[in-house]
Amino acid sequence: MATLKAVRGTRDLLPPETSLWNRIETTARAVFARYNFGEIRTPIFEDTGLFARGVGEETDIVSKEMFTWEDRARAASEKPQSLTLRPENTAGVVRAYIEHKLGESGQLQKLYYIGPQFRRERPQKGRYRQFWQIGAEVIGPPSAGSESPLRDAEVLEMLATLLDEMGIAGWTLELNSVGSAADRARYNDTLRTALEPVVARMCVDCQRRAVTNPLRVLDCKVPEDQPIIATLPVIADSLDEESKKHIEAVKEALDAAGVVYTLNPRLVRGLDYYTRTTFEFTHGGLGAQNAILGGGRYDGLSEAIGGPKAPGIGFAMGLDRLVLTLQAQESDQKSAPPQVDAYIAPLGEGLNAAALKLARELRRGGLSVELGDGSFRLKKSFESADRVARKIVILGEDELSSGILTVKDFATGTQTKVPRVELTEFLKN
Ligand code: ATP
Ligand code: MG
Repeated sequence: MATLKAVRGTRDLLPPETSLWNRIETTARAVFARYNFGEIRTPIFEDTGLFARGVGEETDIVSKEMFTWEDRARAASEKPQSLTLRPENTAGVVRAYIEHKLGESGQLQKLYYIGPQFRRERPQKGRYRQFWQIGAEVIGPPSAGSESPLRDAEVLEMLATLLDEMGIAGWTLELNSVGSAADRARYNDTLRTALEPVVARMCVDCQRRAVTNPLRVLDCKVPEDQPIIATLPVIADSLDEESKKHIEAVKEALDAAGVVYTLNPRLVRGLDYYTRTTFEFTHGGLGAQNAILGGGRYDGLSEAIGGPKAPGIGFAMGLDRLVLTLQAQESDQKSAPPQVDAYIAPLGEGLNAAALKLARELRRGGLSVELGDGSFRLKKSFESADRVARKIVILGEDELSSGILTVKDFATGTQTKVPRVELTEFLKN
């Protein structure tokens, strides 16, 4: 029989690597808490229409990357429905914001999520079909200050802190403004005109985009098209006074906080719903997949999916790429495998039950413990223990009856007799 394997573009995450994933997630949760964000968990699949409207038909995500299926009705009371595995989480969060009328509180909603996303892409390093994102959204009615450039700057400052605390060294923040919906309409016209004489030399995707949504031409990754793209007009020249003021205020607040950024006038991001501030954090160590996170403001998104006016700003970072970055940084330092506090070695199968009882005491006392087996010879117990634990605790008939245990410390090689009541304290040191 052919062996079954994880589906192309998906993979298993195993220990010890998962401890790095946990560390990143723990740091993220701690930082989000300090900025007063609460966690949101939305379903992994949604009505296809949510992404078509909320991400945009012309985007790479919707036009070619979604896992979509027709879900047939199971009963007369049900209707068949087109469903999609979420390719990103902002649309789901905004749908939940609308569905639960979160805007009616009048407060700014500050929500974060951690979870898998799905895109049918060509798998390669840093690009998978199931990947993980950590993201956050700040959204609310305009009266709550949701349009303020201070929100943009605060999110960017939080991201700088988050990456620093995760230990990601050497990131770059690229910043741009794509203006208001009206600015973008104007820019699209300018682009359409500028593209007319050159588009015949570009890729087929760009030829289509030049007609349907010229802004998306700037997302093109085809190398041959890049010299042409470099000659196109930049969006900064199409911004109105309001949009210019907004991005200037963001920059001023970032300067005041000491967050370093570079302006990238061609950064338009892959999603149709972005307005004004757009940004990306990149890292040189990642090769072609160098974006560790992207985000921006999406002032019209809620209305686009049938909700009230609810401007917002958010980001999504690729957890897989954070892990790759940290692994590359740490491989130089050759970190030792993690070890538990103690390994308990029962001397004979008749002591297995007593050994479990001892392990329970120590674990409840806060220690990490690996439990051996009485069928092992002492030599095998020592070998196993030396690989996984800092110390080995020998539990034989004598130790059990006297209450005095023998503990060996692998680092120093010393052997000590320890009364059972003092064992937890002894092993902690
Ligand atoms: P890229 O240009 O690399 O395709 P994107 O613009 O499609 O990125 P976003 O939709 O902005 O990416 O998602 C935010 C982040 O999620 C990215 O910066 C990246 O770190 C991560 N990401 C996106 N797609 C994948 C994927 N297929 N595999 C792993 N991580 C991904
Ligand atoms: Mg992509």
